[in-house]
Amino acid sequence: MANEKNTYQILLFYKYVPIDDPVGFADEHRAFCQKLGIKGRILVAHEGINGTLSGTLEQTQSYIDFMRQHPLFHDMHFKVDDHDRHAFKKLFVRPKKELVTWRFEEDVDPNELTGKRLSPKEFYEQLQQDDVIVIDGRNDYEYDIGHFRNAIRPGVKTSREFPEWIRKNLSHYKDRKIITYCTGGIRCEKLTAFMLKEGFKDVAQLEGGIISYGKDPEVKGKLFDGKCYVFDERISVPINQVEEKIVGKCYHCGKPEDRYINCEYDMCHKQHICCPECEEKHQGYCSKECEEQDMVQYEG
Ligand SMILES: [Zn+2]
Ligand SMILES: [Zn+2]
Repeated sequence: MANEKNTYQILLFYKYVPIDDPVGFADEHRAFCQKLGIKGRILVAHEGINGTLSGTLEQTQSYIDFMRQHPLFHDMHFKVDDHDRHAFKKLFVRPKKELVTWRFEEDVDPNELTGKRLSPKEFYEQLQQDDVIVIDGRNDYEYDIGHFRNAIRPGVKTSREFPEWIRKNLSHYKDRKIITYCTGGIRCEKLTAFMLKEGFKDVAQLEGGIISYGKDPEVKGKLFDGKCYVFDERISVPINQVEEKIVGKCYHCGKPEDRYINCEYDMCHKQHICCPECEEKHQGYCSKECEEQDMVQYEG
């Protein structure tokens, strides 16, 4: 196969920094992004910015250059992936209350309180210690196609469910050494702060998340099993450059698989791991009910 040229890039970035007028900033920033021709999703809040974008090399570089000049974002870190096309269909730049929807009873400012930051190498070393508890700071469906070896599966569908899940399931670990990780690092900023406030004594986070970990030239993604779920059209990306493993299981037959599809029935649209054979056999439906419901609708 001829090498396809990676003439596009995907950017992942965030920064917790006070923004006075998120609505005004979002409007201006949207106009700028539209002019540039980049696509993706950017959230703007009083507490900062969180975004993921795709564009040609030129477009993404212009975006980075622009942010480097910006008084608030000049030191923001960009995670950059090569790609052969856009990874988004549209551009959304939205003002939001929170960059990640936690809805804590009491909000936390990660600039004031957050867990210790571990470099990929430090995190890799911690992973190999027996006394360390590894907590996945993402949602269960993200964990299911790939996670760090021996990490605890989060029993949550959204970040909002974390406080309750932690109180119910992790309280006995308060005196233990805890390390957390998420996709790009933003979720751990407040998750670790929340845990510290809850009385966990030793909480550290993977700086730059799984994505930075996978790019580290020394660590090479080691001890990450499966793929990393991403919120763009790629759906997942490889992380471990040394060892390839499939940790997901087909929703129908249980065979190892790490490919997500959405249920063919529009009213359901359930995202589920599905092997190619079962996709054909079940015609993309997650269940018999969905298949039947869809037929009823079709027959009118
Ligand atoms: Zn299957
Ligand atoms: Zn369904």
